[in-house]
This record gives sequence, C-alpha cells and structure tokens, in this order.
Amino acid sequence: MAQSATPAGGETPVEPSPSAIPEAPANAPSPAVSPEQGAAEGPFDVVIIGAGPGGYIAAFRAAQLGQRVAVVEREFVGGVCLNVGCIPSKSLLHNASVMRTLRDAQTYGIELGEFKADYDKAVDRSQEVVKRFVNGVRFLFRKNKVALIEGQASLVAPDTVAVGDRQIKTRHVVIATGARPNAFPGMEIDGEVVQNSWQTVVARGRPERLVIVGGGVIGCEMGTVFRSYGSQVTILEALPHLLPGGDEKISTLLERSFKRQGFEFFTGVRVESARREGDKAKVVYSKDGQQQTIEADRCLIAVGIKPNTENLGLEALGVQLERGFIKVDPRMATNVPGIWAIGDVIAHPLPLAHVASAEGVQVANAIAGQQIRPLNYDNMPRPVFSNPQVASIGLTEQQARERGYAVKVGEFPFSALGKAVAENDFEGIVRMIVDAKYGEILGCHIIGPEATELLAQVTPFKVLEGTTHEFEETVVSHPTLNEAVKHAALVAEGTALEI
Ligand code: NAD
Repeated sequence: MAQSATPAGGETPVEPSPSAIPEAPANAPSPAVSPEQGAAEGPFDVVIIGAGPGGYIAAFRAAQLGQRVAVVEREFVGGVCLNVGCIPSKSLLHNASVMRTLRDAQTYGIELGEFKADYDKAVDRSQEVVKRFVNGVRFLFRKNKVALIEGQASLVAPDTVAVGDRQIKTRHVVIATGARPNAFPGMEIDGEVVQNSWQTVVARGRPERLVIVGGGVIGCEMGTVFRSYGSQVTILEALPHLLPGGDEKISTLLERSFKRQGFEFFTGVRVESARREGDKAKVVYSKDGQQQTIEADRCLIAVGIKPNTENLGLEALGVQLERGFIKVDPRMATNVPGIWAIGDVIAHPLPLAHVASAEGVQVANAIAGQQIRPLNYDNMPRPVFSNPQVASIGLTEQQARERGYAVKVGEFPFSALGKAVAENDFEGIVRMIVDAKYGEILGCHIIGPEATELLAQVTPFKVLEGTTHEFEETVVSHPTLNEAVKHAALVAEGTALEI
C-alpha cells in the first residue's frame, strides 16, 4: 500500500466510447461476472486473483503481450491502494496541508479571522477522488480487453480457478491478493472507536483525541491528517524511533518536527491492550516497566499487515509460504509450476503499491517467456506523506557500511535553499549516501518539502548506477527544491559551492 500507480498515468480517466466495450457473450454472464466485461468465459492464458495495483498492472501488461487475461476481485477494484489506502489518504493529506496553510495565513499578510473546517467534507472529497479512479481502472479493463470477474476466487488446481460455482481454465494463475491491516492479541478493533486504517480513512467525524498504535508509515501519515485538523494525537511505537528501519537521523528530525507541531509520542513502548469502553478507546501500555493508560475518542491500530493467503487453496496445492507470505523466485514464480505471486502477499521487504506494479510487469513478462532481470529492491523509492514528508531510496549509512562500502555522506539543509525559504517551507535535509571509492550513489534520504517528489531525481541515478560526478555535470533549474538534491551529492564529494 503506497502511492497508487494511477490508473490512467495520472490523467483524467476518459469515458470509453461504446465501441471500446467488448460485446457481452451469447450465454449471459453469471452474477459473478461484471456486466460490462465480455470475454469472461475462458479458457485464459492468465487468471490473476486480485485487482490492486499489482494485479491490474500484471493484467494490462499480459494483455499488451497478447495474452487472454482475466482478473478476479472480491472487494476492491483498484485494490487497497485506490479504495482505502494511498489515494483517499493522499486526498485527506492534501486537505491537511491546506489547513496548515490557512492557519499560517498571517505569515503571508492575510487576515482570515476565524475559519471553520468541516472534516467530513474532506472525507467526501476523498471519496469522490476514489470513485473517479476506480471508474478509471474499470475503463482500463475494458480498454485492455481484460475480463473482470467479481467474486471470491480459489485454486482448484494450478490450471483451474473457482469463482462461485464457475470453474475457469487457465494456463497460469497469478496471486495478487495483497494484505490487510494486522492487529495483535489485546487489540480489539470494533470498527468505530478502535479502528484499523481502512476504517479510519473512510470514517466521518474527527476525533478530538486520537491515539495511534504504531509509529510507522500509516501512523505518521494519519497522525499528520488529524494533527493538522487540530486533534490531539498520541503515537505509541514499540521500537526506539518513529518510522523505524529507515535512516535514524531522518527519524530523529521527524520526531523533533512532530514535537514542535504538538504531537505526543512515546517510543520503545509495549502496548498491552487497546479496546473500546463505552464511547472511548482505552489503551494500556508500558514504558520502562511503568504501566500507563490513555483514554481517547478514537484509537487507530497501525501495526503492519498480514497477507491474504487464506481460502485460496494454496496448502492443498503445496504452495510454499514464508512467515505466512508466499515465497517466489525473481520471476515471481512460486514452487508450483503455473502459479505465480506478486505484491503485498509475497515475502519481501517492501509492501508498496509501486513495487507491486513493478512485480506485475515482471510476472507478465516472465509468463510471456521474455527474458527478465531480477528486480532490484534497493532501487525502489520509499515515500512517506507525513508532514514533513520523508522519502528514501537505497541503503542507509549503516547498511552501506555493513555491506563493506567505505562511505561518504553529504547533507544539505533546506534552510540554505532560496526556493524553500521563499516558500516558507524549509524544515529538513537531504542526506546522500555515497560510495567513497567511485562516488556511486548508494542511498538518499530526504525529509522536507516535497521529499516524495524530489526523490524521483535520485531514482534514475540509482538505477543507472550514477555517481556524484554525473550530479556535478547535471544542471538543475534555479530556484527549485531539486537543487538541494544536487547540493547534497556535491557535499559528499567535497565540491559543493553553495554551503
Ligand atoms: P509499518 O510496518 O510501516 O508500521 C507499523 C509500526 O508499528 C512499526 O513501526 C512497528 O514497529 C509498530 N508496531 C508493531 N507492533 C506494535 C505494537 N504492539 N505496539 C506499538 N507499535 C507496534 O506498517 P503500517 O504503518 O501499518 O502500514 C502498513 C503497510 O502499508 C506498510 O507496509 C506500509 O509500507 C504500507 N503503506 C505505505 C505507505 C506509503 O508508501 N506512503 C502509506 C501507508 C501504508
């Protein structure tokens, strides 16, 4: 679950002309078949289970390669990302950013006086965005002539998928069923007061007091939404830092900023229980051996994901799992010939929408018999849309040292950048991790304005094994935020001129 691979490459989905819609088959579709989809009878070359950014991209690529393709989806056309993840949350986060700007109006010489914000209207707007993009994905199914079968799928054999009472024959099956929010014993989600992220992102009514269990990506993003609207937000994180597992300095800067914005957070805690009591959420946790209780209007449980592997028939067919996730090789093939898997349901470190989409292209290419290269997960961008934003690619300083590199680090603060200061948004830094021998860019970690967009400047460098020397040769427009990225690379090389 991350930023969505937008269905029409970010374009407004265009209503298809009627001629683009395949004709309905002579034998009327069963209730399991979406009425607008024609060729749902099979046999197929590929049947994909799950219509998220992994599944639908795999389907469209397979169709592009001339395969007959069907996708089976039980709940969310467009997946978690489009329906209850990246897209609605980014819409809410944009509202949150407008709130912060309005609150800062005086800085720009604008007197607004009292203004009222209706959080439910933000939810309504996000739902409109979702609707539009789900329609966009449905359009792309028709455009690509991929059958969309709505229902619960299971595998009867490697070449047979059951949906209701239908049995669909296929040469290959791709499992792209994704994952769902996790909860640990003692965390009792009732959906209203104690919620998971799917419930929080669509819930109307803003809690005055919110406690979030888990200071990872969702905790920091949804915390940002509610804090920007004025809620009191407390985050409880088990590990020593917010956004654990990334660059520690960036996490520390995020924590400093959150403190300044009035968040409350506790790290290194053990959450013992989180449950509804009357109208309130009661969360019991311990820190340094001391038990504490927090009462709040709402509690969001955001402690990671668990894979959707149940009731697919995987055990009966002998598909190997690893920690509950499906094990695949670099072609995305499972141990059972003809069964493949991609996205959040597989065992890998980056359950993100754009990674799932990359795996979707990979699996479609592999099924079509193309030569493929293993995906390089070090080159996958990792965005977090908190305020300030955080974005990373490649190795942290520590990981680079552990892999035996001699490392140089270049840092550039946004407070030294004209564009950032002119726009009054200059909190944060770019941290470039560079191999001392050849100047190769090993990693980049950004906290600050538009960090998630700025990272796109580094991604091709990573993919092409670019070095600080190519950064020296690259002329970046002035004044832009992008300059901070180049400056950080030059700081690492010792050739920076503007700091
Ligand atoms: P996460 O893994 O990012 O964070 C979960 C956090 O909960 C971790 O920091 C973990 O240490 C903490 N935790 C676990 N058990 C705990 C406990 N008992 N008490 C307190 N803290 C505990 O997962 P998430 O935030 O739930 O997000 C789910 C998935 O969705 C992730 O894989 C994430 O990458 C993805 N996602 C990505 C984006 C994005 O790319 N912008 C946005 C949202 C979600």
